[in-house]
Amino acid sequence: LGLEADLRRALERDEFRVYYQPIVALRDGRAMGFEALLRWQHPERGLVPPDRIIPVAEESGLILAIDYWVMSEACRQLSAWHRQFPVEPPLTLNVNLSGKHFTRPDLADRIDAILQTSGVPPRSLRLEITESVIMENVNLAIVTLKQLHALGLQIAIDDFGIGYSSLGYLVQLPVDTLKIDRSFVSRMAQESGKAEIVQTIVTLARNLGMTAIAEGIETAEQRDRLAALGCDHGQGYLIATPMDREAATAWLARRLAEAERAPQGTDV
Ligand code: C2E
Ligand code: MG
Ligand code: MG
Repeated sequence: LGLEADLRRALERDEFRVYYQPIVALRDGRAMGFEALLRWQHPERGLVPPDRIIPVAEESGLILAIDYWVMSEACRQLSAWHRQFPVEPPLTLNVNLSGKHFTRPDLADRIDAILQTSGVPPRSLRLEITESVIMENVNLAIVTLKQLHALGLQIAIDDFGIGYSSLGYLVQLPVDTLKIDRSFVSRMAQESGKAEIVQTIVTLARNLGMTAIAEGIETAEQRDRLAALGCDHGQGYLIATPMDREAATAWLARRLAEAERAPQGTDV
């Protein structure tokens, strides 16, 4: 109860922050965009991670306001990056969406309003929804995701591979991207079977016309194996940790300058 009141106050006092973690093309290290990740800049406790926030926010319904705040803030930032760094293809922004939105009739309208206000083209925004949320109520997910997709947004399934996806449903969902869960990436080298699962997800994505993004890349070995398996994109501490907007902007400027100097660069 205390935390719920704290979160409400944090929203009013503007204590939430968006951190940005880069997503790159694994083939050449090119910056593709960022995932927006919630943080709470607590006056005494410092930076609070989302695991401490999201469960209470979901239970209290505050997650709706928090997610829209993250989306607005991150879209405003993306629009600034589009002006500052007009690369082709345009930089994309991934935003996490709680399953609590799925029963709300105004979801598509509210996202549309955020796009209009920020001037971000719908194609540049990718909503991440976890596999478990989709599978909890697959029929509702199909209807909701179709509405969102009709706006022109991209849709990614987050933490893919751990939520018992029914593959039959996958073709009915308007999904553009599969995000390979960190647990497969981190144990790819040690545990037999993990690399095969990654390979299978990459192949599945390709055959369904989707892209694959690997999460949680921490070593050069993991990056190289993923690239060899044909995984399109990746993110992880090896490439960059989530950063505030100044640090993310500096990272982006550096990475794009490097790409210009070495167009075939391999240094992810
Ligand atoms: P996620 O969407 O799967 O985000 C990836 C998480 O992995 C992030 O944790 C990120 O910091 C972390 N990560 C990235 N690279 C590495 C790596 O190389 N190694 C390791 N060990 N971890 C890595 P974070 O920021 O703590 O977020 C945790 C989860 O909270 C997210 O998982 C997402 O489900 C949720 N979340 C974050 N922001 C939001 C938000 O604005 N709205 C909603 N509804 N959920 C959010
Ligand atoms: Mg995510
Ligand atoms: Mg994930």
